[in-house]
Amino acid sequence: MARVRLVIRLTRMLAIAAWPLAPLVAQQPARESAPMSAEIANVRYEVTFDRATAAERTVRIATVFDVVGSGSEPVLLSLPEWTPGAYELTPFARWVVEFKASNESAASAELKWDKLDFDTWRVQPAGARTIRVSLTYLADTLDNAMAWSRPDFLLLNGTNVFLYPEGRSLSFPARVTVHTDPEWRVVTGMHWEGASAFSATNYHDLVDMPFFVGRFDLDSAQVSGRWVRYATYPRGSVAGPMRLQLWDQIKRVIPPQVAVFGEIPWEHYTVMQIADSAYQGASGLEHGNSHVDVITPLAIGSDFLPSLYAHEIFHAWNVKRLRPADLWPYDYARAQATPWLWVSEGITDYYADLAEVRGGVVDERGFYALTAAKIKEVGETRPVALEDASLNTWIHPADGTQYVYYPKGSLAGLLLDIMIRDASDNKRSLDTVLRELYQTVYKSGRGFTADDWWSAVSRAAAGRSFTDFAARYIDGREAFPWERTLPLAGIRLTRPNEPRLGVYTVQDPNGIQVTRVEVGGAAAEAGVREGDYLLAIGDIAVDDAGFVEKFRSKFGTAASGSPLSLRVRRGTDTLTLAGRLRFAPGDAVLEADPRAPAKAVRIRTGILKGTLSS
Ligand SMILES: [Zn+2]
Repeated sequence: MARVRLVIRLTRMLAIAAWPLAPLVAQQPARESAPMSAEIANVRYEVTFDRATAAERTVRIATVFDVVGSGSEPVLLSLPEWTPGAYELTPFARWVVEFKASNESAASAELKWDKLDFDTWRVQPAGARTIRVSLTYLADTLDNAMAWSRPDFLLLNGTNVFLYPEGRSLSFPARVTVHTDPEWRVVTGMHWEGASAFSATNYHDLVDMPFFVGRFDLDSAQVSGRWVRYATYPRGSVAGPMRLQLWDQIKRVIPPQVAVFGEIPWEHYTVMQIADSAYQGASGLEHGNSHVDVITPLAIGSDFLPSLYAHEIFHAWNVKRLRPADLWPYDYARAQATPWLWVSEGITDYYADLAEVRGGVVDERGFYALTAAKIKEVGETRPVALEDASLNTWIHPADGTQYVYYPKGSLAGLLLDIMIRDASDNKRSLDTVLRELYQTVYKSGRGFTADDWWSAVSRAAAGRSFTDFAARYIDGREAFPWERTLPLAGIRLTRPNEPRLGVYTVQDPNGIQVTRVEVGGAAAEAGVREGDYLLAIGDIAVDDAGFVEKFRSKFGTAASGSPLSLRVRRGTDTLTLAGRLRFAPGDAVLEADPRAPAKAVRIRTGILKGTLSS
């Protein structure tokens, strides 16, 4: 998954606020023995979404299957608790507003059923050979892991609605038939069987291939020799030159990603996007041959959108195929926490930046700016170990660290890349590690372990040990060693001095703006107190929209110690306080070091272009 870095948090917080009852600890109580459904076969699903169901914001799902055996044992059918990639528990059974079971071969005689637990239905076949289970599902949640409808459109995730037999293998082939308005379209990553029928070879693939049904824009192009489709809702939301620009960016970011792994894993790939003003931010959810973006219309044309596409598309290799052993295979009934999201998400985000610079969506300076922004974000977040942050995501920690494994994991990827290239004289890189694990571990049909990962990193780095590195920076909370590492890649990090007031406003838990004053800062020295309401610095009003720029341009070149007047309101008084200008190191700035030695230049070029030295 990926989200706009600042807005990311907002969208997640909104999502939590919208589901106050969604149990974050919804694990099933432990049972004496795991329940097992009677065996079923020949499973097929029917999806009905048309103007009539759209009017009530529902979609109808029929699951039809044959009962194997005597038909005396109950069939236990469950819905998932989460959608892989969206690491939070959301019992989708909650949105089932009607459930029916009938004997398909006996004049549709209704069958008895009850609930075994909150996400499992127990159907009594009573001798039926073929059973039809019908669900009505409320499609009213705008989230890329869920189901959402409009009068002319449906986003449907298979995890929400496709029942599976409890305790049985998920390797059964599945067929889906979509019944919809004749003028409406269907797009999904599933294999098209003709007419309105689609197939998947197993349940995991079935629920990894979401659907758009209805009226939306759809076009396609060959990229790296395979078809890529671009589906956008509502119609006209991405049109004209903007559509051409986004297509150009998609065509630029894919080939550098293919180059990392040496092969393309999909027959066709679909970018599925919903732009809706009810959504604040931008969020993508990855799948094996598609991804779904839900964005504010304001994100169209932003620099973030191609970065989001690059991130989600890279996931087709990293996490959908190559993934931690903790997530192999996916278990839809419980949280699958892993300490490795810094690789699956963070390093994916490093490769989103690399795909952008290697494909020419951003230039070298743009890449440094993306990296510097991540350094800033991590610096503003309390120190947390990457492994702990990865494990924590399921509980949405409230300490501000919830999504720090994206930028911090991305930066860990840059560090590893530089260290591997330095140790191997740029003959190998982090690309080498990912390609090797993909070709060996993933292709042998399992997830990677800590030993797989660190052995591959060490091999790429000419046998160097990473035990100390992992202890300090991955399992530990030490600040990253930029001063030592970046020069190896000919990159210079500086923190130019900036005028610093030492006063800022925060929102207290009651939503009231409160002034905080840094001890020993310029404002404190001038006599500003906590609780004062800051009105102006010199002649610049603090509520001026351009305050930061005006402040920097007026005081940025002034001498340290220059007089500074601060106007504050204290109670009913307005005071003018006299202070002195102070400077302090500001945010990190990254740039190419023009005096870097030849080896560092080779490494820098290797990172930016995706090349190795021979
Ligand atoms: Zn992601």
